Amino acid sequence: MIFKNKTALITGSTSGIGLAIANDFAAKGANLVINGLGNKAELDKICEQIIAKHSITCIHSNADMLVPEEIRNMIVEGTKYFGSIDILVNNAGIQFVSPIDEFPEEKFNSIIAINLVASFHTIKSALPKMKERGWGRIINIASAHALIASPYKSAYVAAKHGLVGLTKTVALEVATNGITCNAICPGYVWTPLVEKQIPDTMKARHLTKQQVIDTVFLAAQPTKKFVLMDDVAALASYLASESASSITGSSISIDGGWTAQ
Ligand code: NAD
Repeated sequence: MIFKNKTALITGSTSGIGLAIANDFAAKGANLVINGLGNKAELDKICEQIIAKHSITCIHSNADMLVPEEIRNMIVEGTKYFGSIDILVNNAGIQFVSPIDEFPEEKFNSIIAINLVASFHTIKSALPKMKERGWGRIINIASAHALIASPYKSAYVAAKHGLVGLTKTVALEVATNGITCNAICPGYVWTPLVEKQIPDTMKARHLTKQQVIDTVFLAAQPTKKFVLMDDVAALASYLASESASSITGSSISIDGGWTAQ
């Protein structure tokens, strides 16, 4: 129970990688603040399932990562309920695929807001309490696209590269406070976010669904297989552990060899 008496807040944890991280942390004893879009009944159900499985305390917030005030309130409410947010995972993210000259402005702005700016707000709000307690873990779920680019993903690539910059800066600012800040850079993980990219990628590149999987997604990954959500969660767990106290400001790839090429 390495996370007993710790509270983790994971943005975008009602689905995919975030939900896998929530379950992994709960299995190790962490209490949770989960977050994601959805109504109260849906979020209640996800919390109930986690509580039934892991006997921890779980509360939820449907704060919209597009709205700074809702983000700040989520951190305040979580801190009020549990006394502290010890582990912050910035995971909420969206994607949109389009050539840049056709990229809708509002989509570009939303991707930057959710995938980058929201992390500024969560970190800014959570840090004072972490500093006070002399302990904290901040984990930003970036992407292989934080390190390299692909065509038609201008907003996503820009946001994720920015997230790595934010990670390094925060790590330097809190290096002597017992707080670490790192980024995880996954390759393609089979989640709803990836599945949703298929129709637009088919359209942008004139490909069938199978061709998108083989020649766009898995072509990039030398292992020729999707990264597993549970493996990303295990890496997040390690970064949140005591053993990882000297890892900070790092961007750690879990991408089947993609960025080694
Ligand atoms: P997903 O679509 O399965 O889950 C996204 C989560 O974010 C959901 O809980 C959703 O409710 C939440 N969310 C979306 N918009 C939100 C908003 N405005 N406010 C609050 N919550 C919001 O996605 P996923 O594939 O699990 O991706 C999670 C993270 O991992 C993202 O940051 C993504 O960029 C990153 N990532 C994913 C992959 C992949 O292949 N799936 C690869 C690299 C990085």
